[in-house]
Amino acid sequence: MATDVMAAKHAEAQKRYTQRHPERARAATLRWRTGNRERHLATQRARSRRYRARDGQKSDLMNRVHHQVAVAKRSGDLVPQPCESCGSVDVVAHHDNYGKPLAVRWVCQKHHREIHS
Ligand SMILES: [Zn+2]
Ligand SMILES: [Zn+2]
Repeated sequence: MATDVMAAKHAEAQKRYTQRHPERARAATLRWRTGNRERHLATQRARSRRYRARDGQKSDLMNRVHHQVAVAKRSGDLVPQPCESCGSVDVVAHHDNYGKPLAVRWVCQKHHREIHS
């Protein structure tokens, strides 16, 4: 997942910083903990509440379908094709029907937005 990669990169950067400036990193961590912990938790809570309220079940289904697409891509059952509108190879899988998880249309970001507009 992209978020895992980002988290790993972030952890790498943190480690480098800590090695270079151990005392500064420690002070920053302490400051962050006392200053932001509560606010950070509140933001997280508010965000997940909003997210659930807005997308609810739909996002559960979408997550499941997107996961199935990712698995099928990895196993070779689903092979990305150039954008059906412009031929770009930087494509995403679009579903006309989430009831058919592997019936996808391959479109670039731009034409994907157009489908949904
Ligand atoms: Zn396109
Ligand atoms: Zn779509």
